[in-house]
Amino acid sequence: MDKREFLKASGLALTGTMLTPFASGQSSNPAESAQRSPATRKNWSGNYTYSTDRLDTPASVEEVQAAVKRARKIRALGTRHSFNAIADSAVEQISLQHLDQMVIDPAARTVTLGAGVTYGKLAPYIDSHGFALHNLASLPHISVVGGCATATHGSGMRNRNLSSACSALELVTANGDRLTLSRAKDPDHFAGSVIGLGALGIVTSLTLDLIPTYQVEQVVYQDLSFDELEHNLDTIFGSGYSVSLFTDWQNHRATQVWIKRRVDPDKPYTWPQEFYGAKRATQNLHPVTGHSAESCTEQRGIPGPWYERLPHFRMNFTPSSGSELQTEYFVPREHAYEAIRAVEQLRDRITPHLFVTELRTIESDSLWMSMAYQRPSLAIHFTWKPEWPAVQKILPLIEAKLAPFEPRPHWAKLFTLPPAAVQSRYVKLADFKELLRQHDPDGKFRNAFLETYLYNA
Ligand SMILES: Cc1cc2nc3c(=O)[nH]c(=O)nc-3n(C[C@H](O)[C@H](O)[C@H](O)COP(=O)(O)OP(=O)(O)OC[C@H]3O[C@@H](n4cnc5c(N)ncnc54)[C@H](O)[C@@H]3O)c2cc1C
Repeated sequence: MDKREFLKASGLALTGTMLTPFASGQSSNPAESAQRSPATRKNWSGNYTYSTDRLDTPASVEEVQAAVKRARKIRALGTRHSFNAIADSAVEQISLQHLDQMVIDPAARTVTLGAGVTYGKLAPYIDSHGFALHNLASLPHISVVGGCATATHGSGMRNRNLSSACSALELVTANGDRLTLSRAKDPDHFAGSVIGLGALGIVTSLTLDLIPTYQVEQVVYQDLSFDELEHNLDTIFGSGYSVSLFTDWQNHRATQVWIKRRVDPDKPYTWPQEFYGAKRATQNLHPVTGHSAESCTEQRGIPGPWYERLPHFRMNFTPSSGSELQTEYFVPREHAYEAIRAVEQLRDRITPHLFVTELRTIESDSLWMSMAYQRPSLAIHFTWKPEWPAVQKILPLIEAKLAPFEPRPHWAKLFTLPPAAVQSRYVKLADFKELLRQHDPDGKFRNAFLETYLYNA
């Protein structure tokens, strides 16, 4: 792998000014020509420029099969919310945005959806039929399939990541065949396939478990001393269905605590004015101090549908300018306090380049490539200003501080951990690679990111 390929692969933020897309070797056969869509050549944040301008946009599963069959190399592209090279291809990408059907099976309590469906589209639809999901990420704009492929998560001591709701998936494998896998029929392979990193094939549809719909209310408290976390961390994070702490790492405190409670009509709840010394906010707040809360979900204890409270950001608003970078490390929850204190030592390096840090908890699961695989976790997230040269220098320092806790980086965000370190964190990696060998023996779905983080030592 040459320097350029390594850089592209290495989970690093690369701006269009650092690397421009390179030619993809278009076929002279019109049937092989993928559509070009210059507008989608960058990811959502704009920090990453994809390496090909070939983008297939099939309208049916049959067209997906045909595209995969003829492609030499191909990668699925969702809603482009990843910050690193995971969705990139040097040859061809395929977007399933037109596969947007949703079918509820009320008896089985499941919904089967096309790969083009976002959480923002799915949530009101299932809610209108009396159903809900167990959790959501901080924003609803991402595709369900892309979220599941990278172990996207929300918060909650007992909430597993979003892919844990997946009970079946259909994908197109390297030879163009359709393959259906389900939790019930293929328990072992299924656990390896859900968080597939786009490597197993092009997922055309997913089936998700549903639960009865519910209401949520959320309240925000300001200024929680980190001292309170030393002995009360589990109680603080367990004080709601989903709890997030935000901090700028200064003054040894969380600037905001967002607590989301499920409403139990039989047990009305009165929110206290104080929470471990933190004061209840009197107005809606944006997690980044000083930013307008217009884009944020309602926080004044007013009940609302689960999908309008669990995300921090409302569907019809872009959470921020989009000009931001994100990093996130998962550490075992038993070491959460020590890990927070370790990162805090870098506060004066971190804060000048940071919009905000969010601390969340995620329940462990048994999905092979999950950042929470067999580890109840604390996720330490950084929303950075778009200042990659500075951020790039800080990440190794944070990773060194977290090294004793064996951090697992979020697959879709920015990190600088060496491939060997990443690989060492996944005990089922060999099994996952065997699964890939079976379904994609020639590496049709492999890109430079996967070569680096799954195969290079
Ligand atoms: C503002 C913002 C907020 C975020 N908040 C959260 C959060 O709260 N929690 C969290 O965990 N993450 C969060 N993320 C990260 C985000 O959830 C992941 O980047 C997720 O992968 C985005 O899905 P996508 O469809 O945009 O994926 P893309 O970036 O398009 O692709 C990601 C991966 O999914 C694969 N993929 C997509 N479609 C398919 C398919 N049909 N078949 C096979 N593979 C496929 C791609 O190949 C690629 O490997 C956030 C990102 C942003 C920009």
